[in-house]
Amino acid sequence: MNDLNNSRVSRRRFAGGMAAIVGYLGLNPAGALLAQATDPRAMSGGRVSASEYDELVKLCFNENPFGPPESVMSAMTGALKYANRYGYPDGDIVEAIAAHHKVGVDNVLIGAGSSEILDIVGNTFLSPGKKVIGVEPTFSAVYEHATGLKADAIRLPLRADFQQDIPAIIKAANEDPAQIGFVYLCNPNNPTGAIVPKDDVKQLLDGLPAGIPVLIDEAYHHFVESRDYGTSVPYVLEGRPVVVTRTFSKIAAMAGMRLGYAIAPSHIMRHMAPYIDNLSVSALAKWGGVASLRDTAGRDRVRTDIIQIRKKTTTALEAMGYPVIPSEANFFMVNLHRPVRPVIQAFRHEKILVGRPFPPMLEHLRVTVGTADEMERFMAAFKTIMKA
Ligand code: PLP
Repeated sequence: MNDLNNSRVSRRRFAGGMAAIVGYLGLNPAGALLAQATDPRAMSGGRVSASEYDELVKLCFNENPFGPPESVMSAMTGALKYANRYGYPDGDIVEAIAAHHKVGVDNVLIGAGSSEILDIVGNTFLSPGKKVIGVEPTFSAVYEHATGLKADAIRLPLRADFQQDIPAIIKAANEDPAQIGFVYLCNPNNPTGAIVPKDDVKQLLDGLPAGIPVLIDEAYHHFVESRDYGTSVPYVLEGRPVVVTRTFSKIAAMAGMRLGYAIAPSHIMRHMAPYIDNLSVSALAKWGGVASLRDTAGRDRVRTDIIQIRKKTTTALEAMGYPVIPSEANFFMVNLHRPVRPVIQAFRHEKILVGRPFPPMLEHLRVTVGTADEMERFMAAFKTIMKA
């Protein structure tokens, strides 16, 4: 229950029921502590005090451990003076995103985090009887939202090498195109960190029945090094039915500020228009987002540091005999060769929050890359826990 997606589900459906969360996890009462400490509401909303929260090493939500750079902080602080307004200057955030991607302003939609955009895509293209297709595990908020809409999800397993099975997605979509609302492709995928190579993305888009929208979630785009990877924004310019989503939560360290966006062709934007809330993004997030896009040096620093720390940590884990799935993101998955749930709980006792279980990969642990100091604490705890 400790992933962001599930926090939204829990807000929506479990309405504050910690007992339900514990029940979902299949935890005994001792496990309630784990649930409490890994529930995002607890972290942000008072179940864990602010000082307890500050003490925790937070390697659970793929956040940026460095925090916003000075450039973003001062832009957000400057925007505080608009706190009492609806119609304020917004720093030209949409124009800035459009210029960044060399697309028109009509191709840009901002939201309160990319989560809001993912929901808008679901609201637009799903209805009872329609299905979203994608792999499992992935960022399952998309599937949970489909269920909430009384639609359904076709969840295909990953291949044995933990890659997304593109031919299987194409085959499933072609079996009954009329029932498909849209295809979801998370690239790189959360929780594995694995990319879908650009040739495979093309294979997917070319192989799907004509007109089926494809949501390509590039939340972790900025951390990718592989030359086999490419953004899918060019497909938008071709007019294909593709929605590419990005977020300021990761590279820009603005998860708590809530800013994400979609790039999509105007015919798709027109479909989504009725579901858009023009007031969902705060003034602070807009001004912070513009500053972040300008601060390319700050973004490069985050990327370089995260990749270097990830490589150091994963090399050490592999040297100890724990294989790591090759990751191109700010997190990775390590094979523990034992059930992950008790290990998550053991980390909690060490005041370290790690990723939730991701069925069916129940012997893999997802770890967000933290600061160098945080990863030293993680490694020390890992050695102790895995010896036990
Ligand atoms: N997409 C993926 C793959 C994610 O992992 C996340 C958050 O962790 C999101 C989207 C949502 O991010 P946000 O709503 O903060 O932009």
